[in-house]
Amino acid sequence: MSATPPASLWRRWCAVPLWLQILTGMLLGIGVGLALGPDASALKPIGTLFVNTIKMLIVPLVFCSLIVGVTSMQDTARMGRIGFKSFAFYLGTTAIAISVGLLVGWLLEPGAGLSLEGHDLSAEVKAAPSVMDTLVNIVPTNPVAALASGQILQVIVFAVALGVALVLIGDHGKPAIKVFESLAEAMYKLTDMVMKLAPYGVFGLMAWVAGEYGIDMLLPLIKVIFAVYLGCALHILGFYSLVLKLVAGLSPIQFFKGISNAMAVAFTTSSSAGTLPASMKCASEYLGVNKKISSFVLPLGTTINMDGTALYQGVTALFVAQAFGVDLTWVDYLTIVLTATLASIGTAGVPGAGLVMLTLVLTTVGLPLEGVAIIAGIDRVLDMARTVVNVSGDLVATTVIARSEGEIDIAHYNADMETSAEIASSREAEQKTATQ
Ligand code: ASP
Repeated sequence: MSATPPASLWRRWCAVPLWLQILTGMLLGIGVGLALGPDASALKPIGTLFVNTIKMLIVPLVFCSLIVGVTSMQDTARMGRIGFKSFAFYLGTTAIAISVGLLVGWLLEPGAGLSLEGHDLSAEVKAAPSVMDTLVNIVPTNPVAALASGQILQVIVFAVALGVALVLIGDHGKPAIKVFESLAEAMYKLTDMVMKLAPYGVFGLMAWVAGEYGIDMLLPLIKVIFAVYLGCALHILGFYSLVLKLVAGLSPIQFFKGISNAMAVAFTTSSSAGTLPASMKCASEYLGVNKKISSFVLPLGTTINMDGTALYQGVTALFVAQAFGVDLTWVDYLTIVLTATLASIGTAGVPGAGLVMLTLVLTTVGLPLEGVAIIAGIDRVLDMARTVVNVSGDLVATTVIARSEGEIDIAHYNADMETSAEIASSREAEQKTATQ
């Protein structure tokens, strides 16, 4: 028997990639909202339900994935020095990336035209604590209470500390690490499941926002896209070029030529984990980095380094603050930098992971989570740019660390693409004969 039309339509809808479904949900939501006007607020509960499901994920996801991120360093304990260098480099560049994001968001004010401040949730914003209080409260007196009440910074601190302790106790830590790895996997799966609801949640929220605020809301979203792309371009072309030139004494142009394939894969797949094979190939084939270095620093970077994601969180957090008329204090800015930097350790290199982590950053400074749903509609476009930065950042770190360890072939690095590939294949042939 042939399928009934609604069933086959549904099947076809399910086959549409998620990002396209979300975009469709957003556009439909805007259309319905504009058509219905304020009556569209009847659709808001669908959005609220989605926001609640995202909220449900935050604490367990962050807790488990951070522990896994930290403990993933343990197999490579013998590479302590390189591990330390990579860790410091990754966290440092991520903190700079988020500052670039905040700066761009502050200068361009993407959310300024969108006044959602009348919205009841802005009442959720807490009075900002003092710097001292923030610093002192970063350590939870009771980690279980921190988990239960969703004190994200405290959860992060406890998770990192527990992860380090699990690594330090060696074999004794392995069973617990296994448990967290398995829980983290389950949380990734659950995130996947929740993200499937995003098109409907985004539909409900966009209908409500468009119904309430009319066409005025479109311009700010275009501004967010522009701000994120501008920030990414500045970070890649400005900051990374400077680091390559000043710290490693290498030509940035050669670098970008060499990693162009990986950048293209990152842009189209929006997954730095999925881009890893292409990055590995670029590092050894075009940049002349010894595989000993790239095979450790790159996978580590894919797990813990998310410069683009952090930058995007800076821009979008400011967007949400501006849209909801929330004034952020400089303690809030510092909190955003700290949270996004630490959160980047626990962000998986898969499409859309940064959006879930955005909820964490917003929660920490008490910004309304409805902002996430507004961003969700355009998230794929933002994801493409931030993944390019994530992958480029991993490759910059690999190149700089290889240079500092004397593990980069400068002639190979400076050769044109064709010669580079030839050098790489003849080296491979040499290695093969050597091992035979
Ligand atoms: N898609 C990004 C990556 O794979 C993560 C994110 O969503 O920000 O690197």
